[in-house]
Amino acid sequence: MVRKIAIYGKGGIGKSTTQQNTAAALAHFHDKNVMIHGCDPKADSTRLILGGKMQTTMMDTLRLEGEEACTPENVVQTGYEGIKCCESGGPEPGVGCAGRGVITAITIMEMHGEYEKDLDFVFFDVLGDVVCGGFAMPIRDGKASEIYIVASGEMMALYAANNICMGMVKYAEQSGVRLGGIICNSRNVDGEKELMNEFCEKIGTQMIHFVPRDNIVQKAEFNKKSVIEFNEECNQAREYTELARKIVENENFVIPKPMTMEELENLVVKYGVID
Ligand code: ADP
Ligand code: MG
Repeated sequence: MVRKIAIYGKGGIGKSTTQQNTAAALAHFHDKNVMIHGCDPKADSTRLILGGKMQTTMMDTLRLEGEEACTPENVVQTGYEGIKCCESGGPEPGVGCAGRGVITAITIMEMHGEYEKDLDFVFFDVLGDVVCGGFAMPIRDGKASEIYIVASGEMMALYAANNICMGMVKYAEQSGVRLGGIICNSRNVDGEKELMNEFCEKIGTQMIHFVPRDNIVQKAEFNKKSVIEFNEECNQAREYTELARKIVENENFVIPKPMTMEELENLVVKYGVID
């Protein structure tokens, strides 16, 4: 059965990068069939898989050509190692609700049975600052069954991660969604691993992997590639492959226990981390 995974986390934390590299590792080293559905109005969740091409988004297609044109043939592209890619896109800036667009996009893909076609994994890359409306949909309606949160050892990243957990608590019973772990995308701040381990313990989950910060990520990005495609033998490629393996083998799925604001502040102060 296809595993539907949503990746959440604060803006700029590294969701799209981590997710595309993990998808590339799953396809290349673990022989999995993977799809990425970008749910961020920025529509940059699939670029590294498609060699830098900006995709025509589902919202653009709907606006310009109508719903009949919004078929998998028109809005799903295939990239590195056969990874299928689509982007929800967003409304014209200042007009309409981006969350609504995510709901529409996922519903259309489901209608076409697109998430079921010979796939092992579907990733939803979701803007995570606001856990409202459409952005909560993968959690609320069971569109995704597993959530991974990308975070680092900084107050705002942990605050966002904790918020996402609060959203999960609200909907997990009804939708069946579970937290599979926190992916620590390192910012190289002091005590980061220890802080993240304690955060994970407090909310009742695991740090599934600690991804180091490495300039090769940018280098690969300049070349419009994932690290896996750019240099499959480098250390960072090994890290993403290891994360991919842990996701494949993961059996630790929980309803998280979010912290209170006060507990979170105390934890951050204890490790001396200032955002
Ligand atoms: P998000 O999708 O959460 O908004 P991105 O994936 O776009 O964030 O990442 C923001 C920037 O951080 C990207 O330009 C990317 O190159 C960089 N980045 C992410 N992870 C790493 C890492 N492990 N090492 C170095 N740079 C990284
Ligand atoms: Mg992104």
